[in-house]
Amino acid sequence: MKRHYFDYAASTPVDPAVVKVMAPFWGEKFGNPGSLHSFGQEASAAVFEARDTIAKSLGCHYSEIVFTGSATEANNLALRGASMAARLFSMRTGVVSLPQRTAPTALSEKSPLATPSFSELRSFSTKTNERLKIIVSAIEHDSVLDTARELEKEGVEVVYLPVSKNGIVDLKKLEAALDDRTILVSIMYANNEIGVIQPIKEIVQVISKWKLENRKNKLPITNYQLQNYPLFHTDAVQAFNYLNCNVNDLGVDMLTLSSQKIYGPKGIGLLYIKSPKSLVGQAKVQGQKSGSDLIYPIITGGGQERGFRSGTENVTGIVGFAKAVELADKLREKESKRLSALREYFLKQVKKINPKIELNGDAENRLPNNINLYIPAKGRNKGSAQDLVIALDMAGFAVSPGSACSARVCSPSHVLKALGYSDEKAMSGLRITFGRQTDKKSVDALLRALDKLIQRV
Ligand code: PLP
Repeated sequence: MKRHYFDYAASTPVDPAVVKVMAPFWGEKFGNPGSLHSFGQEASAAVFEARDTIAKSLGCHYSEIVFTGSATEANNLALRGASMAARLFSMRTGVVSLPQRTAPTALSEKSPLATPSFSELRSFSTKTNERLKIIVSAIEHDSVLDTARELEKEGVEVVYLPVSKNGIVDLKKLEAALDDRTILVSIMYANNEIGVIQPIKEIVQVISKWKLENRKNKLPITNYQLQNYPLFHTDAVQAFNYLNCNVNDLGVDMLTLSSQKIYGPKGIGLLYIKSPKSLVGQAKVQGQKSGSDLIYPIITGGGQERGFRSGTENVTGIVGFAKAVELADKLREKESKRLSALREYFLKQVKKINPKIELNGDAENRLPNNINLYIPAKGRNKGSAQDLVIALDMAGFAVSPGSACSARVCSPSHVLKALGYSDEKAMSGLRITFGRQTDKKSVDALLRALDKLIQRV
């Protein structure tokens, strides 16, 4: 039986050109980039070259790229790292929120080098955390949402920003949620379930305007760290194949990518962290091999990745990731057009099977490869899409339910719930995502299979 893959949002096959550039790094070029000898230097040069390639694609400096083991880890570093750094800052200065009520404390009053231990930070955090706040959208990937919930347990206030019935964040509500305790806003570029694209530039404008009115004009420059709050992070994991991810065009402070979603290997992701030099003032990291004043590391050790992420670099993965980035840059425009046309064709045809089928999420501001359907069906297991997913798999078509399923038990999708759907409807989403191997022939085959199965399940 021929198998057809329609789950490119979950993972992508590694491009043969990527496999080729990775191959020498499994064997002959196995050195540790930290070693001084030629084996190490060879590996170190390869990591440097890869970092530079990715930096050029993102429009940043190579030193602003931090490689991680996954996008999940990168999102954790953004949220936990920013929260921890803010606590550290408040320990050093005695200042957390706007020092209009509290007299500004000169940074030099307390030794900036007296870095507290992790346990000191933890115990202190209970005192200061209630004064820190982060804002995330209600439709983030679990790697952001679960991390935010963990921080909430530690006392950080978390605002889960609602979205419209089409899945777009409400800018007015974002504006209203910003205050002097807000250290971070994290809103994804494109959603993994419904493919809806957020207006990142407008979000950045709202935050910048708030900063200008409430920070720059009010705070002394010595409070450079406060001047930079709130930082803005975006998870661009699903966006990179199809959208402009130039960090200057977007105006973001941090951005997450994953290699496995862009035809690269698994086990490698990255967090772009804007250099403190590009942020207001000069963040001092004297005598400190770990992180910066704005992002504290969550993995400590040998000080790799400029201290933001210790651990010997995944050289093979990094080299493959860079090649995948290069290919994605080359194919972005062409693939976006090709897949949009295929998607429109699919949507037109699928409505002929059942005119009551609906597209979940905004039809315009949407990734070209994403289709998420509501298929009304009577006989289905409590409205869940799982029977259809299993039936399609048995017929050779890999698609995904738009909800979290494990061991055949599905829970309603938090994304569809955020669009205002009932539990039953939020269990019924069927996600079909196209990619480089998708062509009209495979789409027609899927339509024929759906035609047979939709009536049956
Ligand atoms: N963010 C988004 C939007 C995703 O779609 C995913 C994976 O599906 C992740 C983060 C996590 O990626 P990884 O599993 O590579 O850590």
